[in-house]
Amino acid sequence: MLLGVLFGYTMTLTPWGKEFTKDWIAPIGTIFINLLKLIAVPLILASLIKGISDLKDISKFKRIGGRTILIYITTTIIAIIIGLTLVNVLQPGANITEATVEKLTETYASNSKISARISEASKQQRQGPLQFLVDMVPQNVVAAMSNNKLMLQVIFFAIFMGIAMLLVPEKESKTLKQFFDSLNSVVLKMVDLIMLAAPFAVFALLANVIVTADDPDILLALLRYAGTVILGLVLMVLVYISAISLYTKKSPIWFLKQLSPAQLLAFSTSSSAATLPVTMERVEEHIGVDQEVSSFVLPVGATINMDGTSLYQAVAAVFIMQVLWPEGLTFSNQLNIILTALLASIGSAAVPGAGMVMLVIVLESVGFPSERLAVGLALIFAIDRPLDMLRTTINVTGDATVATLVAKSVGKLGKPNVKDWDDHL
Ligand code: ASP
Repeated sequence: MLLGVLFGYTMTLTPWGKEFTKDWIAPIGTIFINLLKLIAVPLILASLIKGISDLKDISKFKRIGGRTILIYITTTIIAIIIGLTLVNVLQPGANITEATVEKLTETYASNSKISARISEASKQQRQGPLQFLVDMVPQNVVAAMSNNKLMLQVIFFAIFMGIAMLLVPEKESKTLKQFFDSLNSVVLKMVDLIMLAAPFAVFALLANVIVTADDPDILLALLRYAGTVILGLVLMVLVYISAISLYTKKSPIWFLKQLSPAQLLAFSTSSSAATLPVTMERVEEHIGVDQEVSSFVLPVGATINMDGTSLYQAVAAVFIMQVLWPEGLTFSNQLNIILTALLASIGSAAVPGAGMVMLVIVLESVGFPSERLAVGLALIFAIDRPLDMLRTTINVTGDATVATLVAKSVGKLGKPNVKDWDDHL
């Protein structure tokens, strides 16, 4: 990571360095992310079907499922409340002058990425309230598996199939179970192999982040806003590790250390979906959560549980309102943000920049003037990538925490069982 940052910075000092990094270094990072995404569907399918069919009886799944969803919603609401409290106390919007707003608007308001995010958000908003349930149920499983954005559909199919396997006599499901068990072991080995490339890929990813970063002056103006988000994220880590140490009696330092490769990857890729294979490996092998729990909790969490994202959405929405629409900052609007940020974080895809798309919906739901939306996003755009890296790290930490808590609650938190060779290579 450090070498990547240093290399990226050095490259910005030369006239040819940026192009060189984009052409010759960045692709290494992209290939690595592609490899991780490549195994996401087989991994979810194999491990979820294996996990559920291992349960032996369906009532256990109900218990795990119910608790997981409940804790996910609770942690997300805690994150939003932390975000809202901090942004109201620290008032990061107060030190943004007219001149800064103008400068940011000039630089970004016509940026195509911003308009793309707004139009993507409006597509999502035109849907009815139950659309998310409809979207979860695939009409063609092969089509669902062909698109990483349809991960929830793959999860749905895997759960459905796993449950059906529990319901038929054991000898009839045996062959299928063996097939998925074996697919699961092979895919996990693929994760090991891909991870051998991680140091080089992380170097490439960070070098590229640095050469594509924005003007430091602009970043400086946004420091207080960024600081508010970061403080909130740090508080969230405290919430997680307190829960871990109080409920499972494990050392928080140990927990974070076991999880750290996944966190590092989340930070470098800004995508919880790309990080999922590694999160699963760390949580199962290094923290000791039984696969029966992790195979359900983690893929579902990667798609719906985004505490970092929801916290960021709450802070960013109020920050934008503080600068551009202070009259809209009523108590009822802030309550409204709790609900919409909860739904928006569930609806955010686990890919870079997704949180910002759903932020548009949060803003629109409180009645933020639509003609000022582009300016609003322009305000936070410059610093969005580093914050995305951080919030993704928290998203992944949150998923792992909940997996550990749920495992403990159903007696499935055992001893770590590291069965790989990659860590020693
Ligand atoms: N990048 C985040 C993730 O994958 C989502 C977001 O907040 O943009 O978890």
